Amino acid sequence: MSAVRAFGRLSDEAARRELDRLAALDRLDILDTPRDEGFERLARLIKQVFTVDIGIVSFIDAHRQWYKACLGLPADEVPREDTFCRYVVDCEQPIVVPDASRDPRFASNPAVTGEAHIRFYAGVPLKTRDGHTVGTVCAIDRQPRSFGNKDLAILEEIAGVAIDRAELLQSAAIDVLTGALTRRAFNEEASRLLSLAARHHHDVACIVLDVDHFKRINDTYGHAAGDEVLKSVIKTCREQLRADDLLGRLGGEEFAILLPHIDQAAALKVAEKLRSALNAVPAQLAENTVQVTASFGVTAMSIIAKDIDTLLAQADAAMYHAKQAGRNRCESFAARSGSHQSARRRVLKAGVIIFNERHSSFDCTIRSLGPDGANLVVSTALGIPSEFVLSIPGEGFETTCRIVAQDRQHLDVMFR
Ligand code: GH3
Ligand code: MG
Ligand code: MG
Repeated sequence: MSAVRAFGRLSDEAARRELDRLAALDRLDILDTPRDEGFERLARLIKQVFTVDIGIVSFIDAHRQWYKACLGLPADEVPREDTFCRYVVDCEQPIVVPDASRDPRFASNPAVTGEAHIRFYAGVPLKTRDGHTVGTVCAIDRQPRSFGNKDLAILEEIAGVAIDRAELLQSAAIDVLTGALTRRAFNEEASRLLSLAARHHHDVACIVLDVDHFKRINDTYGHAAGDEVLKSVIKTCREQLRADDLLGRLGGEEFAILLPHIDQAAALKVAEKLRSALNAVPAQLAENTVQVTASFGVTAMSIIAKDIDTLLAQADAAMYHAKQAGRNRCESFAARSGSHQSARRRVLKAGVIIFNERHSSFDCTIRSLGPDGANLVVSTALGIPSEFVLSIPGEGFETTCRIVAQDRQHLDVMFR
């Protein structure tokens, strides 16, 4: 069980700094975005220039280090608690560890004592133009080694290229793999459509879909096959949608659709049509056909859900219920909470899950928040009880929660 990191020990000043840092990371809008060859090239460059085993470009949210590009390690992300990089984020300075097994901060770290056998680490902060450390760029090796000032200067240059790329990617409109709009372009276009709809009093609905057990597809057929499956999913969806429906890629295997002139009941029918089309058409790979399904959450614009962040948060919450109810199904946001629709917003906040009579806690990242519930991301949902206290350090927020839907890393909770 991870120890308490933030809760109770973070000074007000540090908590405020962390809030600002997360706000900058949120503006960058890069977490959980698809793989990008440009970042992978930088990770490769790190390996080649320094002749090390591992090169990483990472972003660090409230509870984890997420690898935008990582060569030499198998994981996508690790709990923030266990990382070397959290020290770089905390002090906002480069850190060089010639031999981790001799450094009291790291000698007992599982990455040092365990199979990964990390010895050398050099990490520099990934700083936005306005000075917030949103991640790190690091060179890591399984042998102790030295790292001079010239090496450090090169690594800092690479970090500069990485942050420039992150800022540049933000302006891309089309997702290269699937042809869907990027998250940012979708949000912009959706905001425009929503204000038009509000002015002219017409309906707009929003659907979020997430491919079921996609990790298994990657694990069974490989990442390239996974990419083909995503293309096929989007092709099938496109065929069912109207030309003026917006289709965007929110993250790896999560997509959003905005439907003008459609109310929530009609949107549920559209989602059902998409679901059954995917269910009926297996994805064709070079050597296999793969059965693929998705779970859908549906919501619509209303007096309290007028902006795209709120609509996405509501559709997302409904989608988690579809997952919970067995996957390969559609759920409507309002249906599960009766006539009461709460206004949830997408956020990026550091939270702490407290339980076991306040003896145990987990860091989490809060991805949506409303007056009666929230969606939380954790490194693993294992070991978290069905009821706990959620705290937002630095905001004086603390409330008892009940889990209403969950998967490996997401918890949808209602406040008591
Ligand atoms: P669930 O039904 O609960 O949604 O399970 P899941 O396996 O679909 O969800 P999970 O979030 O555990 O795994 C999603 C996986 O998608 C993990 C990630 O490596 C993979 N992924 C993300 N982006 C891409 C991509 O662009 N291409 C490929 N091939 N895989 C991707
Ligand atoms: Mg999925
Ligand atoms: Mg997903």
